[in-house]
Amino acid sequence: MTAQHTLTVAGVTVDTRHWIGGERVASADTFEDISPIDGSVLGEIARGTAKETDAAVAAAKAAFPAWAATSRAERARILHAIADGVEKRLEELAIVETTDNGALLRSHRRGVMPRVAHNFRFFADWLLNLDHEDFETRGHTNHVSWDPAGPSVLITPWNAPLMLATWKVAPALAAGNTVVLKPAEWSPLTASLLADIAAEAGLPAGVLNVVQGYGSEIGDALTSHPDVRRISFTGSVPTARRIAGSAAANLTPLSLELGGKSPLLVFADADLDLAVDLAVEQYDNAGQVCLAATRFLVEESVAEEFTRRFVEKAGQLTQGDPREAATDIGPNIHPRQLEKIDGFVRRAVEAGARAVIGGHRKDGQYYAPTLLTDVAQDSEIVQEEVFGPVLTLQTFTDEDEAVRLANDTRFGLAATVATRDPERAARVTERLVAGTVWVNCFFVRDLQAPFGGSRHSGVGREGGTWSFDFYCDLKNTVTAPNGWTNHG
Ligand code: NAD
Repeated sequence: MTAQHTLTVAGVTVDTRHWIGGERVASADTFEDISPIDGSVLGEIARGTAKETDAAVAAAKAAFPAWAATSRAERARILHAIADGVEKRLEELAIVETTDNGALLRSHRRGVMPRVAHNFRFFADWLLNLDHEDFETRGHTNHVSWDPAGPSVLITPWNAPLMLATWKVAPALAAGNTVVLKPAEWSPLTASLLADIAAEAGLPAGVLNVVQGYGSEIGDALTSHPDVRRISFTGSVPTARRIAGSAAANLTPLSLELGGKSPLLVFADADLDLAVDLAVEQYDNAGQVCLAATRFLVEESVAEEFTRRFVEKAGQLTQGDPREAATDIGPNIHPRQLEKIDGFVRRAVEAGARAVIGGHRKDGQYYAPTLLTDVAQDSEIVQEEVFGPVLTLQTFTDEDEAVRLANDTRFGLAATVATRDPERAARVTERLVAGTVWVNCFFVRDLQAPFGGSRHSGVGREGGTWSFDFYCDLKNTVTAPNGWTNHG
């Protein structure tokens, strides 16, 4: 029997092999890819080993000099062609992603996949404008330039697979680096489609490589490789620690985008309808969003009314098949993730928490949208990231207490503040420890802005010039006052 190298999702054919040096490469072994929607097996994916990771890094190394020397205009043209390819195949990418990771089809169609194309266009355009004005030191001219760093390993999670991958792939390629992308094993399919799209767009062989497999099996081989010049990782804190240890051997620079336990602060002067809208949004992607404001901190005087309105609004959400237009909350990614979520809730309830809504599993891979109250600040449910549709509510009596509770975890990814008082907003945002703070809004993310986390939520920032700074070796060239003939 010949091995099957493709699978089909809603009529879309996906190659299940790695993409190395411009060719499809199989592995001796495979792993199952399962849809969270109904637990069906979508197919068998090539299961990488050190052999394929070495081959991918070698391909990236071989392709690097030519890609780094390719003009900025040509690199930008190819990135725009990739964006065109994403737009052309938008519907296919959307249904494959939804089937693979369970996030809403309508979000993939309307928001996520257009944003994937935008990621390429944005960094293509930024590259063409990337500049630093020369400056003078005692008559000498300083010229700052961005030299591409080299082969870059990009490791991504399953909750927003193509979106998060292209936040990294686009700036890395724009900067002139070559890439080995390792998608998460629970949702690898759109990375394979991206390889096809990039090849069709004319990206030279070896510039983008995709290696699939379990992080626990191939992660170390990738992150300790001496030919790798950058590692960018989005995922969990324990994996980040492991990667940092492995990268230490070669002092490979790291960008780490990690988890969070972000607060939503609702002051008594807030527009409560708006605050409730923001609160209910935290169930998006079944709570599998790193930025989610999972801790509601509500001023005591409005807590009862806020809770009443929240429960009413949350009760209107439809949970079910993420391919249906009416669905608001889909499944969680994997039985193991569901078990983890349920464990957090059970332990919280045993410790005295009360489930205002939810608090239990549903049929299949679905977890009931949950709100827990009566939770202690130092409890596991308040301190640890659940990564499911589980939110907590605590109250505060004044601004100081609100800020103290908000900052009192080991994370610092984001924070959201609901208030009608601009002066309060200014005071509070200044004191919050977070990479992104939203005031009376949520999830607005411009690629020009620095994005990342403080404390255990990450190391470094992505976006705009911060991405180029990361993927490049910055060089300052100082030229003598008289140029080439000065001896003084
Ligand atoms: P994870 O850390 O388990 O896995 C992420 C990736 O790392 C996967 O591709 C996995 O295969 C790989 N990996 C696992 N072990 C590895 C190793 N030893 N070496 C190298 N790679 C390895 O995370 P996850 O469960 O897939 O994702 C959820 C986490 O990601 C949450 O904590 C979430 O908050 C975080 N996240 C952060 C952001 C952000 O921008 N800050 C965005 C999305 C998700």
